[in-house]
Amino acid sequence: MIEIGKEISFMSFDAEGMVPAVHAQDGDIIRFHTQDCYGDLLVNEQVRKADLVGISPQYNPTTGPVYIDGAYKGDTLKVEILRIKPGDHGTMRLSPNVGGLKKGVTKEHVRIFPIDNEEYIDFDGLKVALRPMIGVIGVAPKEGCWDTDTPHKHGGNMDNRDIVEGCTLYFPVHVDGAMFGLGDVHGQMGDGEVCICGLEMQATVDVRVSVIKGKQEEWPIWEKDGLWSVMCSADTLDEAAEDARYAMLDFLKARMDMDIHELIMLLSLVGDTAVCQIVDPLVTVRFTLRQSVGDVKF
Ligand code: CA
Ligand code: CA
Repeated sequence: MIEIGKEISFMSFDAEGMVPAVHAQDGDIIRFHTQDCYGDLLVNEQVRKADLVGISPQYNPTTGPVYIDGAYKGDTLKVEILRIKPGDHGTMRLSPNVGGLKKGVTKEHVRIFPIDNEEYIDFDGLKVALRPMIGVIGVAPKEGCWDTDTPHKHGGNMDNRDIVEGCTLYFPVHVDGAMFGLGDVHGQMGDGEVCICGLEMQATVDVRVSVIKGKQEEWPIWEKDGLWSVMCSADTLDEAAEDARYAMLDFLKARMDMDIHELIMLLSLVGDTAVCQIVDPLVTVRFTLRQSVGDVKF
């Protein structure tokens, strides 16, 4: 197994100039150790933003990138999430005037929650279930440089709480080797990530990477147990939701022998528009199937 330490990290997904940390072959399993989104700097509850020297104002150090041999422009990188092992604690922080509930935030506020089992954390006497998920995951973009705070067609900081063990992701490859990386793992997060963080934690993540030659979708695709989802990011939730609806329509139209009018009706019955996050520089929406629509393959 290939293993990458958490200190081998990057801060932007870049169409040019990403330097591979390691190479992997089609079908390899890779173990990523990840820092939390604060670069592991919230060592106690007294740490303040001014102390986050070396990472602020940007967050989300991302482990990698991995060069996948044989992945070239026009291909798709398939990533199976095999295992997400939480670190031993989760952190959260609030900043005044930040997040979807900022009117209630009058000061910087930091909490550290021990993770001493894989079921739940003790949130001041409440048991809050753990459901480990990956916030940042992606490949080099088609063009430009996207910091690891900002999601788009390359993936990145999508904060989709369904990126859990057992799911598979499909990313469009635009750069030789794909330049794959992941980080910003959460022990739990609600749709929207309303206060701007989940239960931020270090983690160990095992994935299998493989290359699908000669075909790709425009946006990242998610699959689990025969269900499919498209994740789109834009300036507004309206734009992201529209992009995700049409991306799913295009995806299924190419794979199902069904008239477009019936397909649109079907999507109105079993397709859910769900918010991933509202707090990153672009917001993310997933359009996701609630039940199988048949034997669809990527
Ligand atoms: Ca995030
Ligand atoms: Ca995060």
